[in-house]
Amino acid sequence: MTETLTYRHLFGPGPSNCYPEAIAALGHPILGHLDPLFIEILDRACDGLREVWGTRNARTLPLSGTGSAGMEAAFVNTVGRGDVAVVAVNGLFGERMCEVARRAGAEVVRVDHEWGQPIDPERVASAHPAPKVIAAVHAETSTGVLSDIAALGKLKGDALLVTDAVTSIGGLELLADDWGIDVGYAGTQKCLGVAPGLAPFTISDAAFERRIKDPQSWYLDIGLLGGYVGAASGSKRTYHHTAPVAMIASLQAGLGHILNEGLDAVQARHAAAGLALQNGLQEMGLELFAAEGCRLPSLTTVRVPSGVDSAAVRSYLLENFSLEIGSGAGEFASTVWRIGMMGPNANPGSVVLVLGALKEAIAKA
Ligand code: PLP
Repeated sequence: MTETLTYRHLFGPGPSNCYPEAIAALGHPILGHLDPLFIEILDRACDGLREVWGTRNARTLPLSGTGSAGMEAAFVNTVGRGDVAVVAVNGLFGERMCEVARRAGAEVVRVDHEWGQPIDPERVASAHPAPKVIAAVHAETSTGVLSDIAALGKLKGDALLVTDAVTSIGGLELLADDWGIDVGYAGTQKCLGVAPGLAPFTISDAAFERRIKDPQSWYLDIGLLGGYVGAASGSKRTYHHTAPVAMIASLQAGLGHILNEGLDAVQARHAAAGLALQNGLQEMGLELFAAEGCRLPSLTTVRVPSGVDSAAVRSYLLENFSLEIGSGAGEFASTVWRIGMMGPNANPGSVVLVLGALKEAIAKA
């Protein structure tokens, strides 16, 4: 394999998506999952997650699994056979929600929106007279669109509001309690600036009371997971599964970075970087994909100029600048690029680097 190593392997990737504290924590001695020091780290991680979720929910914890595990947990704990789940779809992850809810036994009422547009809270809330769950993605990573979850929360009635905050948590305003989010899930690898592997999850007491009591997933049964986090959730700690101690220590360190910098300052940094990138792309004559007024700062979508080979540009950026940008999703795979500005990458230097490198790549690739 050595001969296939490239510049990137030898000298590391380009700008890192992870906060230095989160990376450093991965190199610390690995504690046992029952070590009181680890329990303290877990408690602190849960406290930090409450801050970034904007919640006081006792049951706020890092699930062992990626963001999709959080999605599974959200649905298996809230819907069973025959329960109605209204799902707002304006991109790939809304679509995935439909599939996960269906497999959990729900009767899915899907409310489609044009990709690149935010969800319409009124249309979603009026799609069914008495759903058990209404679900929506706050920040659609596949299209770069931010939706108004607070507005949906006001209209949810008796339904439980399930929210995907994978690409907003830790970088954008997120106020789970104020907005009426009953169940929320996220990932660590986006604005939290931690490696992928955990799913920050939160569920209100009211939603917990209305949960599916014997869900088809043992591993993701939130009724059992209260004991896993122990004191942090007000429960007596009991063994559930062996905690991924290194990842949780890394999450705790990453959250520490965010809270030390200040949540407002971190959000302002993401907002400024996203806006500067979007302005710069438009100054280059490129057309943004997400509708104006709902563009995510953390993930910018831009149309590939006609005649330009999307994949060739992405390879050029990777090989020459160690910069990875995403292709589009679904039918936009080769006509849209997706550029992240997340965690430590959300800074003016990254913006200048991406704009300069992209200009060169478009000209030469
Ligand atoms: N939801 C959104 C909005 C996402 O962006 C992603 C992943 O990028 C997921 C869910 C799934 O998360 P994961 O890939 O960590 O399982």
